[in-house]
Amino acid sequence: MSTLTYTPIDDIPKIFAEAKAGFRSGKTKSIEYRKEQLLQLGYLLLDNLQPFRDALYADLHRPPIETDLFDLSVVVQDVKNAYDHVEKWTRTEKAPFHFNWFAMKPTTRKEPKGVVLIIAPFNYPVFLLFGPLIGAIAAGNAAVLKPSELTPKTSALMAELVPRYLDPQLYRVVNGGIPETSKVLELPWDHILYTGNGRVAKIILQAAAKHLTPVSTELGGKSPVIVDETCDLKTSARRIMASKVANSGQICVAPDYILVPRHFQDKLVEALKDALDIFFSNDDPSTSDSYARIVSPQHAQRIKRLLDETRGEIVAGGQADIEQRYIAPTIVKNVLSDDSLMSEEIFGPILPIVPVADIDEAIAFVNERDHPLALYIFSKDEKVKKKVFDNTQSGGVSANDCLMHVGAYGVPFGGIGPSGSGYHTGKYSFDMFTHFRATLDSPSWVDKLLGGRFPPYTDKKFKA
Ligand code: NAD
Repeated sequence: MSTLTYTPIDDIPKIFAEAKAGFRSGKTKSIEYRKEQLLQLGYLLLDNLQPFRDALYADLHRPPIETDLFDLSVVVQDVKNAYDHVEKWTRTEKAPFHFNWFAMKPTTRKEPKGVVLIIAPFNYPVFLLFGPLIGAIAAGNAAVLKPSELTPKTSALMAELVPRYLDPQLYRVVNGGIPETSKVLELPWDHILYTGNGRVAKIILQAAAKHLTPVSTELGGKSPVIVDETCDLKTSARRIMASKVANSGQICVAPDYILVPRHFQDKLVEALKDALDIFFSNDDPSTSDSYARIVSPQHAQRIKRLLDETRGEIVAGGQADIEQRYIAPTIVKNVLSDDSLMSEEIFGPILPIVPVADIDEAIAFVNERDHPLALYIFSKDEKVKKKVFDNTQSGGVSANDCLMHVGAYGVPFGGIGPSGSGYHTGKYSFDMFTHFRATLDSPSWVDKLLGGRFPPYTDKKFKA
C-alpha cells in the first residue's frame, strides 16, 4: 500500500500554472476529450476496487461493502451518467422566443470556468473528491484535487492513480495538511468547491475573496430526525440506526439526533436497541467486521468528551477505546436541548433522543437552530409529512428514510446557509463548474425597430 507524501510547497504554484496552461491549450473544448477523461476516471475506479477497499479499511476500518455502496459505486454511476449526457448538457441553448429579442438570436453557451480546486474531507474521500471531479471534467475544466490528510492510504492511492489514468497536465493532486492547503489557497482559482466543516469553510471563503473566486461549500451540521408515533416502528428504527452506525456515524447527512413525542420515546428506544442487536448479532460491535472506526484518536476523544458530559440517560452502548479509535454505537435518551450532545455536530455513532410534546414542538425546535444539511421525518401520516416539509428549511428533506436522497438520481445534493451553498451530483455538478455565457448577434436592421435607445432622447421617440 502506498505511503502518503506531501506535495512540496514550492511545487504548488507550478502545478497550478501547468494546469492553467493545459486549460488554455483548448483541448478541454472537445467533447471527445472530456468523454475520454470520464471513461478513464471510470476505469481508475473499476480497475482498482480492491486497492480502494483496502485503503479505506486501513484508514477507517471501513467494511468493504460500505466502501462499495457509499464511496465507489455512486461515483461509477455518476461517471456513466456524465458520459451519456455531456453532449446534451454542453449544448448551447436558445432563449425562449420573445418578439423584442428574437432577431438578435440570444443564446446561453455552457463554457468551462477554467482551473478549479476541489478540497475534500476524510469521511467519503472518493465520492467527495472524484464525484465533483466528474462535473469539472464534463464541463471542460482543468482541476486540482486536495484530498484529506486524515485518510493517508486513500489519499496516497488517489495521488498515485490520477496521473496514471487522467491527463497528467490538467488533473492534478496536491496532498498535505494546513501549510500545503494554505499555499493552494493563495492561488487565483476559477472556482473552489470545499467540502468539510464550517470553521475551515470561513478560511476558504476569506482566501477566495482576495481573488473574487466563486466558492461552493458543502458543509455539515446537526441533521435532525423527527419520529411520529404513526411510523412503521421496526423499519424506521432499522433505517435510522443503520444510518447512524454506517462509517461509525461519520456521515454529513447522518441522523444527528431524534425528536420524538415524549410518550413514544421508550417504544422507539426498544426498537432502536433491537435494530442494533440484529446488526451486530448481540455481539460486541468492537469485534464486528461491519463496524468502522473513528478517523483518529483525537476525533474519538472529542466524541467521548461529548458523551462523558451528557446529562442524558445512556440506554445502549457507551463504551469507548480511544487508542483503537472505537466508540460503541450509543443511544442516549431524555436529552435536553442544552446538553453537550446538542452543542455541536456529533459526527460519530451516538444517537441522542430529545423528547418533545408533539410535532409542532419538533418543528419549532428545528427552526430555532441552523438550517441542517438533512432533515428526516418518519411517519405514515401524509399531513404530518407535509407539515414538516412545508414548515422547515434544510439542504434536503426525506420521509421514512435516511441518507438515500444523496444518491437519488436527478436531485441536487447541497446545503442551505450554515450547511453549505451550491449543489452537486449529476448535472448539478456540471452546472457548478460551468459559466453560463449569454450571447447575442444583433443585425443592423434591428435599429429600425429599437432605434429609440440612441440619443437624442426626444419626446417623439419616448412616445413611440
Ligand atoms: P477534514 O479534517 O478532512 O478537512 C477537510 C479538508 O479541509 C481537508 O482537505 C483538509 O486538509 C482541509 N483543511 C483542514 N484544515 C484546514 C485549514 N486550516 N486551512 C485550509 N484547509 C484545511 O474534514 P472535516 O472538515 O472534519 O470534515 C467533516 C465535516 O465535513 C463535517 O462537518 C461534515 O458534516 C462535513 N461534510 C460535509 C459534506 C457535504 O457534502 N455537505 C460531506 C462530508 C462531510
